[in-house]
Amino acid sequence: LFRENLPLAKKIAKEIERLTPLVLRKTGLEKIKIMNFCGSHEWTTTHYGIRAVLPPEIELIPGPGCPVCVTPSSDIENLINLAMEGYRIYVFGDGFKLPTVNHYKTGQISSLSHARALGADVRIVYSFADAIEDVKKDGKKSIFFGMGFETTAPSYAVLFATQKIPKNLMFYSSIKLTAPAAEYAVQVHKEKKRVPVSGVIGPGHVSTIIGAMSWDFFPEKYGIPAVVSGFEPIDVLTGVMIILKNLYTGNITFTDLEYIRVAKREGNLFAKAKINDVFDVVDAIWRGIGTIPKSGLDLNDKFKEYNARLLVNEKPWDYDLPPGCRCNEVTLGLAYPTDCPLFMKACTPARPWGPCMVSMEGACAVWARFGSSE
Ligand code: SF4
Repeated sequence: LFRENLPLAKKIAKEIERLTPLVLRKTGLEKIKIMNFCGSHEWTTTHYGIRAVLPPEIELIPGPGCPVCVTPSSDIENLINLAMEGYRIYVFGDGFKLPTVNHYKTGQISSLSHARALGADVRIVYSFADAIEDVKKDGKKSIFFGMGFETTAPSYAVLFATQKIPKNLMFYSSIKLTAPAAEYAVQVHKEKKRVPVSGVIGPGHVSTIIGAMSWDFFPEKYGIPAVVSGFEPIDVLTGVMIILKNLYTGNITFTDLEYIRVAKREGNLFAKAKINDVFDVVDAIWRGIGTIPKSGLDLNDKFKEYNARLLVNEKPWDYDLPPGCRCNEVTLGLAYPTDCPLFMKACTPARPWGPCMVSMEGACAVWARFGSSE
C-alpha cells in the first residue's frame, strides 16, 4: 500500500519531518508521544514499518484497544466453572484459548479450550447469531460469551431487540467501552510522571458506532489533539501529521475525523439507540489494570432472564496476569512488548503466556509476527 501511494506517503512523511522540530520547540518536550488506541492501528503501524518512517522524537505507543487482552481472568474462570457445571459455552476463537491466571496460582483448568479437552461442551462460533442458530438444534442450557468493544455491541443488541433469543441461551457480557480506558491510559502516563501523551489516534471501527465526537474530551478537557483514523498506512501517517499540525497551530478544539469515508462525527445513531435499549453502562474490570468506572456494558433489567452474570458470584478484582507478564504496561503504552523478558522466549504466538500474545490485535502478538517496525 505504501508502494501504491508512495508519492503521497513521502509528502506526508516530509510534512511530519518539518513539523516535528517546530512542535518540540513550541511545547518544550523532548519527545512527542502519540497513542494509537486500537489493536488494528498497532497492526498497521508495525506491519508497514511506520515507526521507521517517523522522526526518532515521535514515539508511537500502543493502547488498550484489544478486547481479548483486557478480558479479565475472572470472566474466563466463571465461564470455565459454568462449563464444568454442564452449561454449553459459545465463544469466539480468541476467547477459547485465553489463559486464566488461577492456572498458574493453583493449577486450575487453564482455559476454555482446556475445559473442552476435559469433556466440557465449548463451541467456537463466529457470531452471536451463529450461537442462536446452533442452540435451537437442542434444548441444552447454554451461554454465549459476549466479548468486544462498541463495534461488536450492536450485533448483540439488535438480536436482543428482535426478542428472538431462545430461552435456553444466556448471555455473559464482557463488553468494554473504549473512551474511559483511553482516558485512563493517558492519566496513568501523567501520574507516573512519564513523557505525557501529546496526541491520540482514535479507533476507526469503534468510532463508526460511537462517533468521532466521543473523543472530544481529549481536546476539551486535556488540551490533547485527537484524530479518528482509518487502518491503511496512509491513514495512520495522516493521523500523526494532523496531530502535529494541531499541536503546532494550537488548534485543539474538537476531534479531527480522518476516516471520513466510513465514520461520522455523530456515529451510527441507530446502533447507539439499540445499545442503549439493551445494555446498561457499568464499572468493568480490565485485565491487569483493575476496575475502570463506567467502562463496560451489561444487560439491563429488561433482559435479566438472559443475564449469565447473575449465575456467578462477582468477586473484586485481584491481580490477574501470569508471573512475569507485563501485559498491563503494554496495554497502557508504558512498555513495549520487547521490554518483557518473556517475549518470544516463554511467550510466543504458538504458546501464549500472557493475554497480549493471544489475539492478532494484541501488541505482543503483532510485534512477534512483524517486529517492532523501528
Ligand atoms: Fe505478557 Fe507475553 Fe506480552 Fe510478556 S510477551 S507482556 S508475557 S503477553
